[in-house]
Parts: sequence; structure tokens; C-alpha cells
Amino acid sequence: MITRKTTKQISVGSVKIGGDAPVSIQSMTNTDTRDVEATTAQIHRLEEAGCEIVRLAVVDEEAARAFRPIKDKIKIPMIADIHFDHKLAILAMENGADAIRINPGNIGSKDKVKAVVDAAKAHKCSMRIGVNAGSLEKDLLKKYGICANSLVLSAKNHINHIESLGFSDIKISLKASSVPLTYQAYQLFSQSSDYPLHIGVTEAGTFFAGTVKSAAGIGALLLSGIGDTLRVSLTGDPVEEVRVGWQLLNALEIRRRGPEIISCPTCGRTEIDMVSLAEKVESLSSGFQSTISIAVMGCPVNGPGEAKHADYGIAGGRGQGIIFKKGQVVKKVKENELIGEFFDLLKNDGVK
Ligand code: SF4
Repeated sequence: MITRKTTKQISVGSVKIGGDAPVSIQSMTNTDTRDVEATTAQIHRLEEAGCEIVRLAVVDEEAARAFRPIKDKIKIPMIADIHFDHKLAILAMENGADAIRINPGNIGSKDKVKAVVDAAKAHKCSMRIGVNAGSLEKDLLKKYGICANSLVLSAKNHINHIESLGFSDIKISLKASSVPLTYQAYQLFSQSSDYPLHIGVTEAGTFFAGTVKSAAGIGALLLSGIGDTLRVSLTGDPVEEVRVGWQLLNALEIRRRGPEIISCPTCGRTEIDMVSLAEKVESLSSGFQSTISIAVMGCPVNGPGEAKHADYGIAGGRGQGIIFKKGQVVKKVKENELIGEFFDLLKNDGVK
């Protein structure tokens, strides 16, 4: 059981972050925000995959104004991602953004930051202060270079400034593309602050490399009790970010969504095309809400025993397959009928 550090609770629209709220999953659209139809369609796919908060890039006024028609068609809260132009942050909040993500360092003068904070207060929006190793202040870089200390000091300076304006509905991210640096920065920050943390490894990479990096960085932080909301950052379809996020929370036994598929690594005893069998089971059960575990095993001799902790399972071998429940064989079927029979059984048991 992981003991999570208790942080201050804030809200992003209807979703609570920090305190006793569950670790939430975020993603970011990669459509042109100004294209309301395409962006809405992508957010619907993200919602279906279990995304709980979505962030959109605000590149100009048209993108900021697109928040309103998009918001009317979706269910989850929206965050406006702002770089440089404080007016866009204000316009996005006026158009229904539930929160904004800024790096105060690139917003400019103190007056501009104050204008953004005033709008956040007026529209009841929360704010993520996103510090990034790639855009640290020059004085910090000169003094300490790129390190955990610089990231934390940068965040603290921004927090002090925003707190001095009477605003504290803040969450923090301290991102780097290096996993050890990300890990150290969040650890260091967490020792001296109770603000909720948005965790992730930035520019993590393509599906394979990015999943490994994110699992290492986000996984290590969550296991040490740090992290209130997360984004897995991948180059590709953002729906994959959400799927990986859930898989991570499943694996760490923090939250469950849908079935858990357990499949054997295969060995010299494997008597069936395991890859396609496991993939078929995964795709056919991907829409299930039930949190059952399903084992897919490569041989009927060891399979049921090795997977007796699974709720349901199948094992294949030499033209036939077996279906089992909690390690007990319930049916023997021909190999080509295995998938159909298995999903019929799940249906009869009310699994969906
Ligand atoms: S279930 Fe059978 S095929 Fe799979 S790893 Fe175990 S012994 Fe090998």
C-alpha cells in the first residue's frame, strides 16, 4: 500500500486535485485548437479512454475563443496552455477555460502576471505553474546550471510572487526530459511544499521509448507517494497517453479501470500463437468497465496453475484450448473457438 503525501486540494472544474482526491489522468490535444470540430472529436475519444482533464494549446485569439464552443460539447474540464502572451490566458478564461497552465517566467512583467491572476480569481480558475528544465531563468542557470535545485528555486520564486497577489489555487510541475532529474526535482520540492503536483516526464518520446521513460519517472514518484495528477507525454495519438496512464495506475495498484490482462511471456512449451491471442483478448475487452483480471497463457499444462490468481483465463495448445476460472478448468474447446467461447462465458457471467 502506497502512502501518498497529503497536499492542498484545488479544483480544475469538477475534478479535484490533491488532498484525498484520486490521482487523475490528463492529456493534451494535438489538433489545431481553432478547428473546433476536430478538437471536439479528439476530446470525445480521450473521454472514452478515461481522460479526466484535457489541455489545449492556445496559439492565438481564435484558439482562445474556441474554448467556448468546445466546452459546450464535452464533459471533462479544459486547461488552457499558454506561452508568452498573457492576453491569451485571460481570453481563454473568459471563454470557459477551467484552469490555465503558465510558466510565469515567460509571461513577462509582474503587471502581466497580476492581470492573469486577477482573471483567474474572477473566473474561479486554478493555475498550473509549469517549470521546465528547458526554460529556466538565466540567473538560476548561471548560478546552479540545470539541476533539481534550479527547478525547485524557479518554482518557489513564481509561487512567492503569485501568493503575494493573494492567489493560491496552484499546482506545480517541474519537468525535464531526464528521468533522474525529474525524480530529484519533485522529491526536493515535495519536502518543503504542500502544493499539489502534476507529474510527468516531458518530451518523453515515441510510444515505446516514451512509455518506458514515463513508467520509470512517474512510477518511481507515485511509489514514493508523490503525484496528484499525471500526464504521460508521448509523440503520437494522445489517446495512447491516457491508456498508458491508466495502465500505470493499474500496475501500481493505485486506481483500476477496466480489465487487467495478464499474459505469459511464452517459452519453449508455448503451443499457440500467443501474441495474436493476447492482442485479441486485449482489444475485445478494452471497452469493459469491469475490473476483472484475465490471464492468457501459452500452454494448458502450466497455464491455469500459473494464473490461478486471475479471475478468468484461457490457455491454448495443439489445436485446442481451455477456459478457466480462478485456476479451475471450466471448458475445453477447439483452438479456433477459444476466443468466441471465452467471450460468451464472460457475457453469461455479466462481465461487461
Ligand atoms: S504458461 Fe506455459 S507457455 Fe506460458 S510461460 Fe508458462 S510454461 Fe511457458
